[in-house]
Amino acid sequence: MKMVNGRRGAIQTIQSRQPMASSIDYRRTPVSEVFGSNVFSRAVMRTLLPKAAYRALTRCLDQGERLDPSLADIVANAMKDWALARGATHFTHWFQPMTGLTAEKHDSFLVSAGEDEWILEFSGKNLIQGEPDASSFPSGGIRSTFEARGYTGWDPTSPAFLMDSINGKTLCIPTVFCAFSGHALDKKTPLLRSLEAISKQAVRLMHVLGNKEVSRVTCTVGPEQEYFLIDEAFYLLRPDLINAGRCLFGAKPPKGQEMEDHYWGSIKERVLAFMMDTECELYKLGVPVKTRHNEVAPGQFEVAPVFEPSNVATDHNMLLMEVFRRTAQKHGFRCLFHEKPFTGINGSGKHNNWSLADDRGSNLLEPGHTPHENEQFLVFLTAIIRAIDTHGKLLRASVAFAGNDHRLGANEAPPAIMSIYLGDTLAEVVEGLIAGKVESGNKSGKSIEIGVSTLPELPRDASDRNRTSPFAFTGNKFEFRAVGASQSIAFPNTVLNTIVAESLEYMTGKIEEATRKGLSLNKAVEAVVRETLTQHQRVVFNGDNYSDEWHKEAQRRGLPNLRNTVEALPILVEPQSKELFGRYGVLNEEELVSRYNVMLESYCKTINVEVQLTINIATTMILPAAIDYQGRVAATISTTVQALQKNGRLDSSTHEKVLLDLCEKISKLKFSIDQLESLSKEAEHSNGDLYAHTKFYQQKIIPAMNAVRAISDELELIVDDSVWPLPKFREMLYIY
Ligand code: ADP
Ligand code: MG
Repeated sequence: MKMVNGRRGAIQTIQSRQPMASSIDYRRTPVSEVFGSNVFSRAVMRTLLPKAAYRALTRCLDQGERLDPSLADIVANAMKDWALARGATHFTHWFQPMTGLTAEKHDSFLVSAGEDEWILEFSGKNLIQGEPDASSFPSGGIRSTFEARGYTGWDPTSPAFLMDSINGKTLCIPTVFCAFSGHALDKKTPLLRSLEAISKQAVRLMHVLGNKEVSRVTCTVGPEQEYFLIDEAFYLLRPDLINAGRCLFGAKPPKGQEMEDHYWGSIKERVLAFMMDTECELYKLGVPVKTRHNEVAPGQFEVAPVFEPSNVATDHNMLLMEVFRRTAQKHGFRCLFHEKPFTGINGSGKHNNWSLADDRGSNLLEPGHTPHENEQFLVFLTAIIRAIDTHGKLLRASVAFAGNDHRLGANEAPPAIMSIYLGDTLAEVVEGLIAGKVESGNKSGKSIEIGVSTLPELPRDASDRNRTSPFAFTGNKFEFRAVGASQSIAFPNTVLNTIVAESLEYMTGKIEEATRKGLSLNKAVEAVVRETLTQHQRVVFNGDNYSDEWHKEAQRRGLPNLRNTVEALPILVEPQSKELFGRYGVLNEEELVSRYNVMLESYCKTINVEVQLTINIATTMILPAAIDYQGRVAATISTTVQALQKNGRLDSSTHEKVLLDLCEKISKLKFSIDQLESLSKEAEHSNGDLYAHTKFYQQKIIPAMNAVRAISDELELIVDDSVWPLPKFREMLYIY
């Protein structure tokens, strides 16, 4: 009966916790002063750099011009002075390898300047390039270990920043990461390339449509982030949470989310203190966090930033997760980003709000007020509909990994079938366009003529009416909702940008072809939009994506349903995908194959860790607790029988039932552990190809692991609570 003290002790610890203050008192230092104070922003550069240098740098940032190396020394020096003045001692290139995390290796500014003399220095070379030993980062086969060199290269489009810690600050320089051969080894490089591709195609199309002033288009992204908070005292008693980020055991709590009392509920003081502290740290880093609230599941919350250019939004989301993890520990919490930490209640996703903006400040997915603006909007909308229909499988694959398999397709997150929600008004517009001038073509009998009529007012879907669609139009942007909470948004956006770039080019080509044949621009656009929408309308679905009917209907429409990672990933290496990513210079064949390999490997490793933990916890924690209880029940029965023997009135059948039930479940548990163990050995010794290996994990090992869990969870419900070693969901989700 020792372990119980662990759980009871945890509860006592939690009872004595107090909300913690953050490092800034806004009464003395207003938010406006805090915001961006640790960022080497444009505003900072404008004041610190010589005018000519500043102008050259902005040209590089705004027009994608190459950076003159002589400029680097000037920028580096200014950056160093700025950082030192704020208490920095070290610098690091900060990059995003294919682990899906961020990487950093710190160096001090200290440089020897001859005999006994030391100075603090940071050269243009230090700024522009680093040469980390890349051999321990996943490369998916691109770089054999004998050619371990990798290079980090400064990405001036994302600002450098200072990371605070209790004993000083570190200057972090966002960089890309590639191999000696030039192959991208990170998540950022392909994203930047995809942004180039989509900008080029969007600008071309706009020029064809007569909008000639535009010279650059960026993608804007606002990722809404869901997460769980668990008290650290519970967390530390759960080896599965510590090592796998999710509970591998745990019966459904008696009270889950059915009361709907958590969503947007009042925020507990300790949690609010945590949230405010994260905001304070993120403000310093220039991350524009805006919204905070309780989410659907108990213990679940959400944070949303104001949208930013896609590459900056990606960096900021990585920083946000890092700040959340650290700050949670300071407050005695642990922050869980896993897609499904607790079976039986909702998991966590990351809604990737996405749009396109031109360099004149217009949102291209904002329906305009004039027929001409509408025309452009409808052409872009059509291109996006076509992209999702044509390349939905790729988008699906971009969110395929072990954690997300628990979510997609379960009735809480969009299904694995990629479809688009347009809302009733816009769907009617689309139908009208398809019907052309046929009066009875759409519900309201109106026909839409591109370039002549203006669109009806589209209601902003602020109420989020359809939460079940994986790709929903919400008034002036699309919301891609299938992204997992823990994953970097870089790859999903890389894929999204690339498939839309392809579709924009298709539209341009078709419109040009039609005008060459003698149609007026207006008629050409109308014909191409109509034809394209007719071909791809099947991907539009405004109903309930969770329903069985939709699954049947989607199948009838021929929409792919790649239900899990193992089914989804192979699309990445099909010839048409290689051609697509190659054509837009986003990922060449080797880079694409390497990502496929890394994703398969990561799947196997994730499941393998879960398997080892399952065996470990079941054998050394659950089985002993059950056996201990079984022993006590058995002993009680025999002493009771003895005590009542003389009396002659003994009926021990009830006690025996308890004992028999226990014995049966314990032997089932032991049997299931043995099964899992032998399958896991089989996996270890298999030397088949990587894909077959992955399939084995999905088809054989996961069910065996689920069997161990199922019987363990049954035991949790009958074994003496005082000997149960793992904190229960009913505690973890409610006591904080
Ligand atoms: P909703 O609650 O309907 O999802 P919000 O206006 O609260 O809509 O927006 C949610 C997220 O979408 C926020 O992160 C916001 O910054 C982002 N967002 C808004 N406009 C755009 C846009 N044009 N491009 C990208 N993201 C956007
Ligand atoms: Mg939203």
